[in-house]
Amino acid sequence: MIVYLNGEYLPLEQAKISVLDRGFIYGDGVYEVVPVYGRTPFRLPHHLARLAHSLSGIGLANPYGNEEWTRIIERIVAGQPFEDQAVYWQVTRGVAKRDHVFPQGVAPTVFMMSNPLATPTPAQVEKGVPVITAEDNRWQRCDLKTISLIGNVLMRQRAAEAGAVETVMFRDGYLTEASSSNVLVVIDGRIVAPPKDNLILPGITYDAAIEFARDAGLAFEIRPVARDEALSAQEMWLSSSTKEVLAITTIDGGPFASGAPGPLFRKVYAIYQERKRAGR
Ligand code: PMP
Repeated sequence: MIVYLNGEYLPLEQAKISVLDRGFIYGDGVYEVVPVYGRTPFRLPHHLARLAHSLSGIGLANPYGNEEWTRIIERIVAGQPFEDQAVYWQVTRGVAKRDHVFPQGVAPTVFMMSNPLATPTPAQVEKGVPVITAEDNRWQRCDLKTISLIGNVLMRQRAAEAGAVETVMFRDGYLTEASSSNVLVVIDGRIVAPPKDNLILPGITYDAAIEFARDAGLAFEIRPVARDEALSAQEMWLSSSTKEVLAITTIDGGPFASGAPGPLFRKVYAIYQERKRAGR
């Protein structure tokens, strides 16, 4: 696999960084993942805008303009032997003597790789997936896509140990998101999504799902979703760049709603499949 590291394209095995990298020492950096269908990145401008938001949120200058990012991504995508990919890249605050305070005059570390895109299996799409629930105990800047993911890692691990796909989180009685996806619900025939505030990642797929729903004339609403409303909703979906939209049919070991993916899920899923291939 050919990866990108600080201006060079090289085999993964040869990509090396210092143990003093602030990404390694502090988790001091941000990242992005863009899905690639048929070698075309899907909604790349949205991902680049979110990257800029994350970088500015941690006080790190964007090392490249969008054209330069696009060029690097295209070259990494072209270097892989598969059509559908997930391009991952991260920017850290670089290598410096260990000190919490930002170092001055240090170049950031930029790393990019691409793996085959692993979307849900047909069975998961058809039957839906199990999740567990938990109280959201992460920090209050979940809008930044930082590489400091221990809160999310612990939540995702809990799900894995329970045989579930995700942990859906609530903070102070309200739905936030899942450990690596956003969560949307259907209440009274309307798609309802929690607001993109500081407590959730502004998901590109969340936006896509809402946009596709709006284009299809489906009713939707952005507002806080109370825990009991969520748990008694008609449908609940996960959304992420790699999961696309995925229906939840089991919660905490018991059947959720009808126990099968709902009609609005099926509609938005179908539009998603069409639009991702059309590249818009
Ligand atoms: N929330 C969290 C915590 C995530 O890690 C992700 C992405 N993996 C998402 C939401 C979904 O974001 P996107 O649709 O941009 O992939």
